[in-house]
Amino acid sequence: MKQGQPDQGVKILIANGYVIDPSQQTNAGKNLLLEDERVVGLLDRGEAIPSDCQVFDATGLIVAPGFIDLHTHLREPGQEYKETIATGTAAAVAGGWTTVCAMPNTDPVNDNPAVTRFIIEQAERARLANVFPIGALTKGSGGKELAEMGEMKAAGIVAVSDDGRPVPSAGMMRRAMEYAQGFDLPVVDHCQDDSLSKGGVMHEGCWSMVLGLRGMPAAAEEVDVLRDCLLARLTGSRVHLAHVSTSGAVAAVRAAKEAGLSVSCEVAPHHWTLTDDAVESYDTNTKMSPPLRSRDHLEALLEGMRDGTIDAIATDHAPHHADEKALEFDEAPFGITGLETAVGLAFDLVHQGIISLERLVEMCATNPARIFSLQQRGTLAKDAYADVTILDPEYAWVFDAAASKSKSRNTPFNGRKMTGAAVATIVRGRLVFLHPDYGRITKLKYREASAT
Ligand SMILES: [Zn+2]
Repeated sequence: MKQGQPDQGVKILIANGYVIDPSQQTNAGKNLLLEDERVVGLLDRGEAIPSDCQVFDATGLIVAPGFIDLHTHLREPGQEYKETIATGTAAAVAGGWTTVCAMPNTDPVNDNPAVTRFIIEQAERARLANVFPIGALTKGSGGKELAEMGEMKAAGIVAVSDDGRPVPSAGMMRRAMEYAQGFDLPVVDHCQDDSLSKGGVMHEGCWSMVLGLRGMPAAAEEVDVLRDCLLARLTGSRVHLAHVSTSGAVAAVRAAKEAGLSVSCEVAPHHWTLTDDAVESYDTNTKMSPPLRSRDHLEALLEGMRDGTIDAIATDHAPHHADEKALEFDEAPFGITGLETAVGLAFDLVHQGIISLERLVEMCATNPARIFSLQQRGTLAKDAYADVTILDPEYAWVFDAAASKSKSRNTPFNGRKMTGAAVATIVRGRLVFLHPDYGRITKLKYREASAT
């Protein structure tokens, strides 16, 4: 199987892998047959295979439905010095993501169908990951006037959000939910009450006191999460809470789900991996919004992932230029890159016995497809798009930010040891990423397989 081959009449057999597809309750050694852009089906080992197919050897590897990131900042249009759609999607496929959902806080903001179409066209030109734009909730994400959701939906948006900024009032959020409901669009909220968090640069707690930095209390997030859950009940809308980071947020989502509301949420890897004491270095790559929290909040996120309260893993990939991140901690912009580190950090949870591999796939593929209603994605069922993420849970590696496919390098995970990675990424039947160590990995897997 060659990289970036033509699309027509190509049959590919992903052979000898272990298929994990929660959408079909599949957790077994199977072969996966693809033809052109679509899945033909899962075949039992030993079942007859078409003679004219190319074979991709997945011995000892996990074969999963393509991973979908609900929360990516691609920066184009307007901030191409930080990232472009081409570089961002290159980072995505290298990290195992076949699909990214692009947040609208570009310049100009994606609050109209012309910007939506531009993003889709640039993604088609790059031919790497699928890109689904998210439209702005309000014009210019200014929080005052609702954006033209219907026109953007016709152009291809899959959700609406003013991410990066909170929706300033409950009244505005109610109207946005009611309007979005008319177009069957989920509302995604960056929950943060500005009247509590304004001026804050890190989590409010003992570390913000020690370091003399202004804090953002957990309550700033929790007030808005509770507000949105109440409004989900009032309006019956689909609400998705972005990057939850606090114990109160997890508890509120758990209660909303128990009450049968259409509320979902995502978590970003840095929030379960690092705590606010990392800010002691004054490294601006520990500055993000929501901020790194204290240990008790981190434990609540782990529990939420364990018990199913947290639906999805999202990267919140937020590239910034080195010059911007070189500013004083107070002045530097919020955010870190995440597309190439998320899967490795998620494997940490599997190795620690916090979540199963099945749950990892559910949070990276099955649930994201459901939350944004991405038809024929997040599954390896017959006729689904041939989007596949192939993983080696045992691959030991060290993340080198300098080798990142992203244009930006703002990550606190440079030099971090990881175990587990995406080995190959297939988007609509095309191999768009093959790990440079693939040959070495499969050789090792053969040796292991023949030894047992
Ligand atoms: Zn956000």
